[in-house]
Amino acid sequence: RLSWPAPSNPADAIDDAEFDLAVLDKLVDADPQTTIGAANYLLGANVHLGRALRARARRWLRRWTSADGLVDPDAAALAALGKHQLSKRSYSPTALQNFAACPYRFFLQAVHRLEPREEPEAIETLDPLTRGGLFAEVQYEILSALRELDVLPVTPEDLEDASGLLDERLDEVAAKWHEDLAPAIERVWLDGIEGIRADLREWLRRAADDPEHWRPEWFELGFGLSDRAQADPHSSADPVAIDGGLSLRGSIDLLERDPAGRIRVTDHKTGKVRAEKNFVVGGGKTLQPVLYALAAESVLKEKIYAGRLYYCTAAGGYEERIVEINDEARKASRDFVAIVKESLEAGFLPAAPDDRECDWCDYKRVCGPYEERRSKIKPPKPRLDALKRLRAMP
Ligand code: SF4
Repeated sequence: RLSWPAPSNPADAIDDAEFDLAVLDKLVDADPQTTIGAANYLLGANVHLGRALRARARRWLRRWTSADGLVDPDAAALAALGKHQLSKRSYSPTALQNFAACPYRFFLQAVHRLEPREEPEAIETLDPLTRGGLFAEVQYEILSALRELDVLPVTPEDLEDASGLLDERLDEVAAKWHEDLAPAIERVWLDGIEGIRADLREWLRRAADDPEHWRPEWFELGFGLSDRAQADPHSSADPVAIDGGLSLRGSIDLLERDPAGRIRVTDHKTGKVRAEKNFVVGGGKTLQPVLYALAAESVLKEKIYAGRLYYCTAAGGYEERIVEINDEARKASRDFVAIVKESLEAGFLPAAPDDRECDWCDYKRVCGPYEERRSKIKPPKPRLDALKRLRAMP
């Protein structure tokens, strides 16, 4: 039959698959009380299927089991986790942010290194990753060029020339990306580039009008990354050690100094504003301002005044979020590191998504449906206490 390729009577099945489908068809909408055991034969039909069905069933138990993500691993699994402890390898802030959203997502992404398969598809709009990457590359190019000309910070008098230079750099970078990506629809590509041009021009104009006169000094300051084509000469090949035993890698888009000598680090964002107005680590989900600032202190051996997210496009309304690097921020970083460290050492990285985190999660295919409902019936205390504390951090 269309959409259910099996006869209605299991006795008419011509192979095992048809038989299973014919049996299951009758059970899907049946009253479970009247059909107990009707599909029990599946548990013995195939060893992998039996294991999968048992795991599925265990996930609905009101206690934590090994089917709930990484929970109570055996000695061999714990030993394998040894090389992923915070002190043994480096992590990026983006990977660490997954922990607060869902520890199992962090585990799948940062430890198992699972990623969604890339599907080739015709470009209908510039996807956010491509747009963000191209945007950042042009920012690096234009800032480097302006530094060479010794016209940083840009002033209103220099703006016209700087904008002309910006156009040139954008055209060069866009031509290179065009060559690599071979976009299917030329019009879409051109519209995307013009959108980027408008955003970058406005970003530059706002920089020229900055009443506080922040002067860009370092761009793409990396640490622990060896494969970057664009990197500030002050970058460190090694990851940096963050208080509490975290080894951090990453690259900071921009560091600026104001006339009073204060330094701030900036992470540019090209999407919509996601961060709250006032936060420090945003419940463990917005780590860049604090962690990048601490990393910059370690690389540059200078005190950092603030970490900043700058939503530097029309989509983000050119809004900024600033986190002052004070005692509270330093303590938040230490607390965050301690919580992740304890979880990794115990090998407890369960599927415990925060509200709505499953909706757009890349790993939904791994976890299956209903994870938010299912994880809510697991005992929260005491094993999720630290995660709850982390999510409540400002
Ligand atoms: S689908 Fe949900 S439970 Fe699974 S990893 Fe993603 S957020 Fe966690």
